Amino acid sequence: MYAKKLPSYLSRLKEIRKNLLGDVEKNLKSSQEGTTEPVADISDGAARAYTSEIMLNLGEQDWQKLKQVDQALAKISTGEYGICALCEEPIPEARLEVIPFTEYCVECLSKIEQDKASAVHRSEEPQTEDFE
Ligand SMILES: [Zn+2]
Repeated sequence: MYAKKLPSYLSRLKEIRKNLLGDVEKNLKSSQEGTTEPVADISDGAARAYTSEIMLNLGEQDWQKLKQVDQALAKISTGEYGICALCEEPIPEARLEVIPFTEYCVECLSKIEQDKASAVHRSEEPQTEDFE
């Protein structure tokens, strides 16, 4: 899948990751001496304290983005990169060019966002309380 383009996506993802972490990682590095690969795997339990530290320093949005970037990097190494996580169809190259860390194709993403919107709508409805 996009084998020729992979190195360029890989370097772009690493660049995005570097920009996201920026000073956060630099600050944490001093308190994490001996860690050869900081934030190597954010799902690793051993790194949980470390990642929660990063989570505090990053905003919620950047944290989500970082997770997507890490997932994309993992997928590159397993050869699943560029496959929609929902419908398992290849994500169009043009979309990867714009958002190299995207998990979904445009169709699935808009579906997910619609679901989210309706879920929010549901939770905003007043709770029916039984007064009788
Ligand atoms: Zn899809």
